[in-house]
Amino acid sequence: MVNMMEDFNSETDSDYTSYWRDWFVSSRGNEYFCEIDEDYLTDRFNLTGLNTEVPYYQYALDLVTDVFDLDADDDLREQIEKSARHLYGLVHARYIVTTRGLAKMLDKYKKCDFGKCPRVLCDGHPLLPMGQSDLPNMSTVKLYCPKCEDIYNPKSSRHASIDGAYFGTSFHSILFQVYPALNPEKSMRRYEPRIYGFKVHAAAALARWQDGCREELQDRLVEYGMSHKFVEESDSEEDAYEYGEENEPAKTEKVAGDAASGRMDIAN
Ligand SMILES: [Zn+2]
Repeated sequence: MVNMMEDFNSETDSDYTSYWRDWFVSSRGNEYFCEIDEDYLTDRFNLTGLNTEVPYYQYALDLVTDVFDLDADDDLREQIEKSARHLYGLVHARYIVTTRGLAKMLDKYKKCDFGKCPRVLCDGHPLLPMGQSDLPNMSTVKLYCPKCEDIYNPKSSRHASIDGAYFGTSFHSILFQVYPALNPEKSMRRYEPRIYGFKVHAAAALARWQDGCREELQDRLVEYGMSHKFVEESDSEEDAYEYGEENEPAKTEKVAGDAASGRMDIAN
């Protein structure tokens, strides 16, 4: 009986310990994770503070780094396995903001591993995983669309239960700081509610007011030498010229009038 148990354990040992990380990142539901380099995991400095965060820390670390060597019963093994996943997640959040980690996540982003934005006007723009907290057990992972700059719930329940702290609050923003060319062009396109083709009044008034605010803000940005371009801008400028003499000041005046009729005050 004892021998049988040993055989059984050593067999599962070898299954588990050979390439645990490879198994982890290729398991169903773990598609958001990239594989953390061995070098990163074995540098104690990168793991600072995690020993108090993760139960059975040393066993968990051994499991993740493929040097696990312990005859444990199923209960303990399960606990250690759970700890190893938690440890992997916490190190993952640190790893993905390193040069190597960013490059790996960028690769996954380009392959749409994190899914596409559900917003119609984003035309299926790829998403990035992010957390709303850097502390574990606060909230689950969300998906950020750099085009509409909004966040979404993951579609699959497997992904929806992943801790957001395994990705952190800063990774998606750091990615675009490091790779600024990837930042998608901002778009002014938005959905206009209509009834049989006629714009719904309240929504249209709000849209006019928001357009007015946007133009005013853009003018102010130009004043401060910080002009920002939208994808549609070059097109709409051409449209404006088609109508002839309508230049910038006239346009601004018109918008101000609309904003007044919308009876919404622009707060300063
Ligand atoms: Zn979007």
